[in-house]
Amino acid sequence: MTEPMPTAYDPRAIEPGWAARWEEARLFVADAASPRPKYAIALPPPNVTGELHLGHAVNGTLQDVWARYRRMTGYEVLWQPGTDHAAIATQNVIEKQLANEGLTKEEIGREAFDEIVDEWYRKVGATIVTQFRVLGASLDMSRLRFTMDPLYVRAVRTAFVLYYEKGWLYRGPRIVNWCPKNLTAISDLEVDWQTHEDTLYYISYPVEGTDETLTIATVRPETMLADTGVAVHPDDDRYRQLVGKFALLPLVGRRLPIVADAAVQKEFGTGALKVTPGHDLLDYEIGERHGLDLVNGMNLDGTMNVPELPRYDGLPGVEARKRVVEDLAAAGRLVRTEPYTHEVGHCDRCGTILEPLVSEQWFLDMKELAQLCIDASARGQVRWHPERYERTYLDWLHGIRDWCVSRQLWLGHRIPVYTCANGHQFAAVDRPGHCRDCDSALLSEETDVLDTWFSSALWPFATLGWPLDSEELKAFYPTALNCTNRDIINLWVTRMIFSGLFFMGEVPFSDVIVHATIQAGDGRRMSKSLGTGVDPREVIDTYGADALRAWGALVGMATQDARFDVSRIEGYKRFSNKLWNATRLVLSSVANEAPHGPPAPDGDLQPADRWILSRLQAAVREVTAGIEEYSFQRSIEAAYEFAWHDFCDWYLEAAKTRLRDGDPAARSAALHVLDTLFRLLHPFMPFVTEELWHRLPDDRDFLVRTGWPEPDPRFDDGGAEASFGDLIRLVEEIRATRHASAGGTSGGRLWLGAELTSAQRELVRDLGRVELVAAPAPGALPLAWGEARLELPVKGDDGKRREGERRRLAGELAKVEAKLTNPAFRERAPAEIVAKEEEKAAELRAALARLG
Ligand SMILES: [Zn+2]
Ligand SMILES: [Zn+2]
Repeated sequence: MTEPMPTAYDPRAIEPGWAARWEEARLFVADAASPRPKYAIALPPPNVTGELHLGHAVNGTLQDVWARYRRMTGYEVLWQPGTDHAAIATQNVIEKQLANEGLTKEEIGREAFDEIVDEWYRKVGATIVTQFRVLGASLDMSRLRFTMDPLYVRAVRTAFVLYYEKGWLYRGPRIVNWCPKNLTAISDLEVDWQTHEDTLYYISYPVEGTDETLTIATVRPETMLADTGVAVHPDDDRYRQLVGKFALLPLVGRRLPIVADAAVQKEFGTGALKVTPGHDLLDYEIGERHGLDLVNGMNLDGTMNVPELPRYDGLPGVEARKRVVEDLAAAGRLVRTEPYTHEVGHCDRCGTILEPLVSEQWFLDMKELAQLCIDASARGQVRWHPERYERTYLDWLHGIRDWCVSRQLWLGHRIPVYTCANGHQFAAVDRPGHCRDCDSALLSEETDVLDTWFSSALWPFATLGWPLDSEELKAFYPTALNCTNRDIINLWVTRMIFSGLFFMGEVPFSDVIVHATIQAGDGRRMSKSLGTGVDPREVIDTYGADALRAWGALVGMATQDARFDVSRIEGYKRFSNKLWNATRLVLSSVANEAPHGPPAPDGDLQPADRWILSRLQAAVREVTAGIEEYSFQRSIEAAYEFAWHDFCDWYLEAAKTRLRDGDPAARSAALHVLDTLFRLLHPFMPFVTEELWHRLPDDRDFLVRTGWPEPDPRFDDGGAEASFGDLIRLVEEIRATRHASAGGTSGGRLWLGAELTSAQRELVRDLGRVELVAAPAPGALPLAWGEARLELPVKGDDGKRREGERRRLAGELAKVEAKLTNPAFRERAPAEIVAKEEEKAAELRAALARLG
């Protein structure tokens, strides 16, 4: 590239061009037949309910760091993209749209509904792909998958049939979390618990054949219409004599057996519990243990289902409650009420209060599948980062219930179960023409669809072609990494692990990284409806994708809750600009015929060259270690510090003159630093690094096809680091003294009080902007650097100046001493850091003493 560089960096001018060139060159298309070692990541498929948000951008950045890093370390990389149909969420969106037009899905029919859904998928799917492209995500878009594409549907049906044939899938009445709005069962993990202020009603039940009454407390008096028992704790002396007798249900008259069950909490209410097995999970279990009747008192839409009680039948729950309470009061059965705060489950898709209901559902037996996961964990086959999330996973597995996999939706994978006219039932991958047992052609198909997580549980291998024995599957399974949010550890990650173990015989990935949840700047949840959402495209428009990504890498794994911080993102845009200007400076002074390639370690290097090349090796090690340990913040911080402070602030300042004069050692050192730095930063900030890399001399391939930098121990130079580091300290002292005594930005006479080489003297003179003198002037101020003294040219009160310097030195000393007297610092800091601080304290004390 020979066109001159604009003076300021503008991400908008370069990012789209590189995204297009990368794709044109098919850089991210994986080759299953490649002889290289393989590395794969399956992108967590975003829901096609909407556009990507900032959480997706951070999630994508962390995976892209690894995908690019692995390519640069010689791997054949597949970063597998795709999207998820998100049955219930998408159906909600479409139904809302229909409602805006005054329509329902029933009015338009299944066919028209499916068409709208397909159109939606196309539109949103395309937006999501574009968003990833703008972010610079190196996904293999030639392999884009969707959980509703025909091959994927086949994988889902095959998985169902294999479980079915194992005998692990069964249908039965079960209490489920029912959403009366979506008319479907909801998984336990998708219940959104919210605190409600309600009323606790105390109701007295007469005990049959006695004068006694039992008082029972409930927040949901309307459910009493379906009560079939009363339970007390077996150790509760207040009720021991009543066990075995019957209570009479007020308003209804039903006889309720009084049973003793250890699940009853003695402390709640009066310690006596009304048992409504049709409407509460705990009651359902008590009912099972004591053989209580099951009355289903509620319709699927949340209205009352009590045809024998026409006064309440068909009323919505809230109205039924009012009427029941009024009637209880009129009958003298309402003892008292009190305010009550408790947790109420809501549908996390539509916000409706969930009703525990008994309904016919499909269940997957979890016993053996959970054990597969527990065993794999014991063998250390999946590593969690942060490690504590392994507990989250194991706790859930140890207390696991069978998985309710059916949903009553229009959208999703239809359960592949068929029943013939003679009642034979079987599961089949391909839609069968006749019954397997009796050949009857009268088959009915199950109308329920599968829980969306049933299909996404197959993601790491179904995207690779399973159940076919594809080349991709052989090459890229198991994948390496799963990058996820903590909310879906058990909904998704755990289910992928047992699915992988069961269908493929191997864990689907070796490492799980759980990244930060991104909050709004004020710590609130990011949400469109709260108006706290931030569109990544707006951030990219203003600051560039690189700046957003660098911030994502900084916060992604550093914490579990990260606030959106536009000033940090802006800081990374300035960083891009800094890299841009540093490159301009180096290039503007490089003769075109300059020798390229790394400098020779034994060549004509100056102290500054040796110093920056040694610092560079440390940066290579630190950035690499950060990636390898999933401490992305460590990498981005190390690269930033090295580039901005070591290279731009010190090295380029020190080498400016030599660069301008065409000194070959400075030239090759500076070019080598830029070359290495762009490679180190590429996984984090792919656009600006690619652009600048191609502006360096020589023909250059794309960065992902260029090797990852290895530290070169020949450049490790402790001596150069110590001596140049000492000069930096001296220059910082000079600047601080000037600042403290209002002595301007340059000028002054410095007496070093120490022997330095001529190269070192030159550096101090240039960087410190001072004149070196052979003897200290009488009024010169002592610096906290050996015996050095600085005479400032400013006129004015000498006493004031000395006072300013004294305050500065004392302030510095107080800071260092505070550190040194802190036992935590002494315990934790490495010995050489402690020694350095002690040295600094001694220097400061000596300078103060010389100041008199
Ligand atoms: Zn709902
Ligand atoms: Zn049959």
